[in-house]
Amino acid sequence: MEKTSMARTVWLTFDDGPNPLKTPVVLKCLKDNNIKATFFMVGNLAELHKSTAEAVAKAGHLIGNHTYTHRVLEGLPEAQIKEEISKADVPLSKLSTYKKWFRPPTGALDATVRKVAADLGFGIYKWNVDTKDYDSKDPDKWIPLGISEIKAQSSAAVVLNHDIYEATANHLQQFIDEIRKLPNTTFGAPSSLPVINTIAGGAEV
Ligand SMILES: [Zn+2]
Repeated sequence: MEKTSMARTVWLTFDDGPNPLKTPVVLKCLKDNNIKATFFMVGNLAELHKSTAEAVAKAGHLIGNHTYTHRVLEGLPEAQIKEEISKADVPLSKLSTYKKWFRPPTGALDATVRKVAADLGFGIYKWNVDTKDYDSKDPDKWIPLGISEIKAQSSAAVVLNHDIYEATANHLQQFIDEIRKLPNTTFGAPSSLPVINTIAGGAEV
């Protein structure tokens, strides 16, 4: 499909789950809207809430690695970074739609994290739209913030949300409705999720 310079594609991503109460709400909303997303799961939660993790895969969403305990990896020794990613890889590898896609907790990265991820065969997938749903936990804040950040992206918008908060799960429909009102904007298939390997907002520091 030919793209004009005005066409914008939005990818929804959900971090920090799976959560047995909130993730199913997100899954139902995505199904109602015929949207596929990517879920960056925390390994120990995927073990603990195995059936929820499996439901994400069964619904056809892609799954990535968000470490085993959601530890911020920047500044850690190589062995600990490797353990966090590798240990999460064990339960996540059992999920049929798992990809070797890594998203660092909080987005914090250094050269060692990049090296370990590459050595283990992972691409790094960050975001360029941060709804800060984790911060406000208020749909009257995270939805307008997300929409204004999507508008700031002219072509590819990778949206960070979290499928662990009620304020995200219960108001996702409203967010999707607002995205659909944007001109020349469509949802992208998770298989074409763009690699974003910089600090959130796009400014590498
Ligand atoms: Zn996270």
